[in-house]
Amino acid sequence: MIDWKNIDTVFLDMDGTLLDLHYDNYFWLTHLPKRFAEIKGLNDVQANKRLNDMFTRYHGSLNWYCLDFWADELDIDLMSLKYEVASRIAYRPNAKEFLIALNSRGYRAVLVTNAHQGSIDIKFKHTDLESLIHDVVCSHDYRKPKEDVSFWADFHRHKPFSHRSTLFIDDNESVLKSAQAAGIKHLVSIACPDSQKSARLDSEFPLMSDFNDVLPYD
Ligand SMILES: [Mg+2]
Repeated sequence: MIDWKNIDTVFLDMDGTLLDLHYDNYFWLTHLPKRFAEIKGLNDVQANKRLNDMFTRYHGSLNWYCLDFWADELDIDLMSLKYEVASRIAYRPNAKEFLIALNSRGYRAVLVTNAHQGSIDIKFKHTDLESLIHDVVCSHDYRKPKEDVSFWADFHRHKPFSHRSTLFIDDNESVLKSAQAAGIKHLVSIACPDSQKSARLDSEFPLMSDFNDVLPYD
């Protein structure tokens, strides 16, 4: 599936790619509605309606990924709520082994994420991910999400990379299309970003279930 002899750098998304999206889905769709209702004295229907209206309005924008935005909009201490369920943070199957293999074979592994710095911090505190990557690129630093094709030009201007020898793995098809439009050659998607949900069967990009299936050879 992967043309390793022509690759020297691997860009990796975090949530739904290296880490199980179950934590994030559980937080936003179960824990936050419950705690938001408790804190604001709302019933479940009222809390869900208020949250769902906002989720619809901001989906795919940089605000969608910004914890400060949601904390302000909802007027709650979002980070404390995220830590309440942090025990659910986990790697996807063999993601850690994949990063170890990249490191031992001399590939450069870079985290490229839309996650807010607060979300990155909590994931780094509950995994050893930070020790297994060479760099972190956070789209908030460029004020545009990975879905925006100009993000890739800004990122490239700031931290040059070869479009031809970079592999990018991400569970978000819109993000992969944006990276493809920007010229990144090797692209792979994730069949099952959330371990508690069923796998996708079709994609415009090669689909990978387990990092064991794409380990670099010697
Ligand atoms: Mg993702």
